[in-house]
Amino acid sequence: MTSDAKNARIKGEKSMEKAIVSPYLLEVLACPVCHSDLEPVCGAIAGLDEGLRCRGCRRIYPVRDGIPVMLVDQARMDDRASDS
Ligand SMILES: [Zn+2]
Repeated sequence: MTSDAKNARIKGEKSMEKAIVSPYLLEVLACPVCHSDLEPVCGAIAGLDEGLRCRGCRRIYPVRDGIPVMLVDQARMDDRASDS
């Protein structure tokens, strides 16, 4: 792989989603409660600066300094109806 192709790939990934956490972390992390995938959310939804929301049980885990805090007692429920 040329360095140009590698740079283009990294740039493309960053433009896909908000870079709250790295794409790698998003892939390896799962909700500790229901083991569903997580998705990044912004503060407008979470009431936090940034966070990761579980697609299963809708808990939102805070992200502090780029580090996801995957603790149940630190999570809050997403009580907004975001599906409709
Ligand atoms: Zn969950």
